Amino acid sequence: MTPRFPFDNSYARLPDRFYTRQPPVPVTAPRLVAVNHALAARLGIALPQNETEIASIFAGNALPEGAEPLAQVYAGHQFGGWSPRLGDGRAILLGEVVAPDGARFDIQLKGAGQTPYSRMGDGRAWLGPVLREYIVSEAMAAMGIPTTRALAAVTTGEIIQREGFLPGAVFTRVAASHIRVGTFQYFAARKDTEALQALCDHAIARHYPGASGPAGLLDGVIGAQARLIAQWMGVGFIHGVMNTDNMAISGETIDYGPCAFMDAYHPDTVFSSIDQFGRYAFANQPRIAVWNLAQLATALLALIPDRDEGIEVFTTAVNGFADRFDAEWQAVLARKLGLGENREGDASLAFDLLNIMAENGADFTRTFRALSHPDPSWARDEFIDPTILDAWLVRWRARLAQEDIGADERVARMRAVNPARIPRNHRIEQVITNAVDGDYDPFRALMAALADPFAEAPELAAYEAAPEDGEHVTRTFC
Ligand code: AMP
Ligand code: MG
Ligand code: MG
Repeated sequence: MTPRFPFDNSYARLPDRFYTRQPPVPVTAPRLVAVNHALAARLGIALPQNETEIASIFAGNALPEGAEPLAQVYAGHQFGGWSPRLGDGRAILLGEVVAPDGARFDIQLKGAGQTPYSRMGDGRAWLGPVLREYIVSEAMAAMGIPTTRALAAVTTGEIIQREGFLPGAVFTRVAASHIRVGTFQYFAARKDTEALQALCDHAIARHYPGASGPAGLLDGVIGAQARLIAQWMGVGFIHGVMNTDNMAISGETIDYGPCAFMDAYHPDTVFSSIDQFGRYAFANQPRIAVWNLAQLATALLALIPDRDEGIEVFTTAVNGFADRFDAEWQAVLARKLGLGENREGDASLAFDLLNIMAENGADFTRTFRALSHPDPSWARDEFIDPTILDAWLVRWRARLAQEDIGADERVARMRAVNPARIPRNHRIEQVITNAVDGDYDPFRALMAALADPFAEAPELAAYEAAPEDGEHVTRTFC
């Protein structure tokens, strides 16, 4: 079969100061690690039968017909510090495909070689982060959380230097787009209002077709980020590097680096090795979103003719994030507790649970999944002092009694939102260690275990277990 990608490359039609045309740098010996056939079908991509040919495409060695490879330019605040020019230093956008249903997606190779934006970097990725992004992004998708997707992973046959010498790999990422807060910042900082306007129009057409102008775009992004971060927190997810260049305008989770899911719940949890001061800690994520959205608002301000009026409107919009996030987060927590209606006291019921979980080292995922059991007192086992949960269980049962649902319905509701299986750090580390030794069976087994995270699957209990002593991963690297 001749490979067919239904390309229609709208970003490549934007002014050429938006990117540098740049083909991927070929690699020595591509080998296919994984390809997501279901996603390829959803995108309308026809792949060759032959694994060698597939590997060659996703390594960047063979360009599919219609690809117009380029590296996008953007700026960004990294841990609060301004970088006027970042850009794709190791990623190449092959182009955009328009799926059979009309939806448009970027196809990007990450680790595809140096670009003019590589600065000191080698333009490559190693197998570990490629597998982590593959696993975590697909798990997020399976949980219904907006995210970029994994289309393929290949090894390159090359060795790269990180914390030692490691196998090189290329990850193929699918995204609604790769437009970031930092893309707007780049043109705003250069006072290139014409480019800023073109970017704003492009982003609106692509992601917020109902929005009228920059204020509408900002409002759309604020709403999407409020929902997204509430959803992250609902599964115990910590992004780890919420720099403005890693926040997508589309509202998808993007740039999985030293990200992680919490085991034991604590709001201050940080995994990222590069997050020294906990800027991107679990419970800090909504505050950082506000900070990032204020940067977006500042960038968009140049497009408002009356600057004072613009400042007023945008300030109100950014300040509105807090209420919008609180509403989303409370709705997520209510669903996790099986509550369909919104009643006085629901928020404190949820927050009181989180507080006793934090005090008692309760595993985030296991606690909510145990509460979803027909006998919710199973959750007591997750607490250092199980009796600490008893009074709370009494309150929650009383509140549940006000819902007009039976016991089975409650269980079904809760199991549909509280995953049994998440990609736990210790599992991901095992996958990576084995893959570096050439054994991909643990990777495939973990992917299979995470395919339907909400299903009851006693045979997968090992993937539901919290890490044992000695298995804890406390730091993640990108
Ligand atoms: P990230 O931390 O992955 O969001 O990347 C931040 C910036 O560093 C982006 O401009 C990346 O393209 C760039 N970058 C990260 N790793 C590399 C690398 N190995 N080679 C070149 N550029 C890189
Ligand atoms: Mg250019
Ligand atoms: Mg990035």
